[in-house]
Amino acid sequence: MTDILQNISKIEQRIQKACRENNRHRDEVKLLLATKTVPASRIKIAIEAGYTLIAENRIQEVKEKYDELKSIKHTSHFIGHLQSNKIKELLRYDISCLHSLDRITLAEKLDRRLKFENKQLDVLIQVNTSFEESKFGVHPQNAPLLVEQVSRLGNIRIKGLMTIGLFSADTEKVRKCFRLLKNLSEKIKNLQFQNVEMKELSMGMSQDLETAIAEGATIIRVGTAIFGQRDTPDSFYWNENK
Ligand SMILES: *Cc1c(COP(=O)(O)O)cnc(C)c1O
Repeated sequence: MTDILQNISKIEQRIQKACRENNRHRDEVKLLLATKTVPASRIKIAIEAGYTLIAENRIQEVKEKYDELKSIKHTSHFIGHLQSNKIKELLRYDISCLHSLDRITLAEKLDRRLKFENKQLDVLIQVNTSFEESKFGVHPQNAPLLVEQVSRLGNIRIKGLMTIGLFSADTEKVRKCFRLLKNLSEKIKNLQFQNVEMKELSMGMSQDLETAIAEGATIIRVGTAIFGQRDTPDSFYWNENK
């Protein structure tokens, strides 16, 4: 329990320092808790400490933890790769934003289901800024077209972009990914598509959150630095059925 609270306090200090150094207000940056593999009892501790934005990578885990977290007020996003056969389930669990929309076929199926259920959903478009095969996301060149196509679907509201930066100890290489996402978001803003907002930039994780904040992140997604090392390698979540 105390480990989580201490870790959160360290992360909070890192966020505040990065905001100060880059002339940003603390409230421009939301801390999202990436809770894959973390039991609901531990997630609760963080939510009770006031960090109420959480996200899973797999519907199965959303489902497993749903009942235990239901009684405590929080907001759920989804940050994992979404297969189209999981859309119905996604909509069953009060997810308010999908960070990983990366293809039109998925968007069309999602929109159809949303219409059927008379619901709307906020989404971010996931962009592959590191050009690594292993990661999901639309190629940056194809992102404006995808945004335009999705903007015509009535029940999906685009709120911004998301990326997973390169895994590298070389900060400048990581920075390139985040800067690419920021530039892309400016470019898309200028195209002024109807029904599209470019206000959120979801980027930065435990290792690279300072760089992401420097480059304009509005949502940072932190797991390990708060909940500790995971036993399951990330490749399990990121390469699934590719
Ligand atoms: C796991 C995960 C994170 C958090 O990564 P950490 O390195 O544990 O902070 C962020 N974003 C996505 C998409 C993830 O799957």
